[in-house]
Amino acid sequence: MIKIYNTLSRKKETLKPLDNARGKKLKLFVCGPTVYDSAHIGHARTYLAFDMIVKYLKEKDYDVFYLQNITDLDDKIINRARESKIFWKDLTKKFEKAYLQDMKALKINSVSKYARATDYIKEIIGQTKKLLKKEFAYQIEDGVYYNISKFKDYGKLSHRTVLQAEDAVSRIDEAKDKRNKGDFALWKFSKSDEPSWSSPWGQGRPGWHIEDTAITEKFFGAQYDIHGGARDLIFPHHEAEISQMEAISGKKPLAKYWLHTGFLTVNNQKMSKSLGNFITINDFINKHSARVLRFLVLKNHYRSPIDYSENAVLQAKRELERIDEFVGYLGCPTSPKIKGDVGHPDIKQFQKRFEAAMEDDFNAPKAVAVIFELMRQRDVLNAKDVLEFLKQIDKFFNFIFWPKVKEKIPQEIINLAEKRENYRKEKNWQKADEIRKEMTKLGWLAEDAKEGPNLKKIK
Ligand code: AMP
Repeated sequence: MIKIYNTLSRKKETLKPLDNARGKKLKLFVCGPTVYDSAHIGHARTYLAFDMIVKYLKEKDYDVFYLQNITDLDDKIINRARESKIFWKDLTKKFEKAYLQDMKALKINSVSKYARATDYIKEIIGQTKKLLKKEFAYQIEDGVYYNISKFKDYGKLSHRTVLQAEDAVSRIDEAKDKRNKGDFALWKFSKSDEPSWSSPWGQGRPGWHIEDTAITEKFFGAQYDIHGGARDLIFPHHEAEISQMEAISGKKPLAKYWLHTGFLTVNNQKMSKSLGNFITINDFINKHSARVLRFLVLKNHYRSPIDYSENAVLQAKRELERIDEFVGYLGCPTSPKIKGDVGHPDIKQFQKRFEAAMEDDFNAPKAVAVIFELMRQRDVLNAKDVLEFLKQIDKFFNFIFWPKVKEKIPQEIINLAEKRENYRKEKNWQKADEIRKEMTKLGWLAEDAKEGPNLKKIK
């Protein structure tokens, strides 16, 4: 029985598909990126967590359809395109491609469908029309706005009231004649140099919140199982989605379970593009590796914050080295073959504890601790069983077995190594040693072997 923490009820609940009659089918929607810049490791934190969750659910025989939107139009995109003098569509195409490449490098391959906002303008206009008709929306000089005071459940996710909505910190649509401070745009009239589509109200473009409900209604209908995103989206974004869709359909809840990831922070401040405290996924991978980032994120609970530091990276690398050493040991012909005899622990005990942790709101840190416990019991466990178990859990963790990439050796190091070999042949040990020191300074080690030196990067 899987329990998940639901932001809507603020409780852990047993996972039961909305449409129980249709078996273990789950429809999941996670808010995707706004593609105006490179994705950073804060984004990776959220998308890695959902990748692991989806893969775990699939391992438990759930048939998950994972839908993610791509915001390819909003104020930030328009401003960035203007600043960089690029056509907005070229800008978003470039960063969407980069985002998908980052996801691939991180082995995030559980998304069933990526849906670009601007491909659903017809659906967005359709939803706006319905909200106007039902008088949940009104038209003013600069667009069509949602009237939050008309929706009586407003604030049920974030526990804010209509009046508190004005404390929103992100992406508020300002307009002087709005009826409530927290009212948000469904359709904005475009300025002459802005992208625009024709609508019954005039040339314009969608507001931010409506793209998600238009996309989810198209693929899932008025209700679905799970909605996810990072915790900053609870308010106003997810609150707005609930207000829109439940007002349109009259059905509630829009999503049965609401899952929110904790932030990746730096010195306890959210990593974000606007604060400038970010490291792009690409830079992190080049400096360390995709595997290190996967592990660094997934060994933490998806709801907990992760405070990023060089030390945390170092620690993750050391733990991965221990995992590698353990896997090597398990594959070795002399490792133990004991089969759960009296006095010897059976792998099943560990599996049970691992399962219990994962079923309890995907408590990965507790589950990962079981792996480290297995390492300590290595001499009394059956190596083949342990290896099988690790293979099984790596279907959703994807950080245990990772193909070894051969380090690219710079030409400068190859030249130095050859020079050093020549000195060694001449038995000029002093010169050979000087070169060895020079190589060490450059971060490379020459391990001498019969067939020649082995060049290794110093970690
Ligand atoms: P954005 O591109 O800003 O729309 O963000 C896309 C997704 O990444 C949203 O779910 C964000 O909440 C999430 N996100 C952005 N920054 C972080 C962070 N520092 N930690 C965790 N999730 C983040």
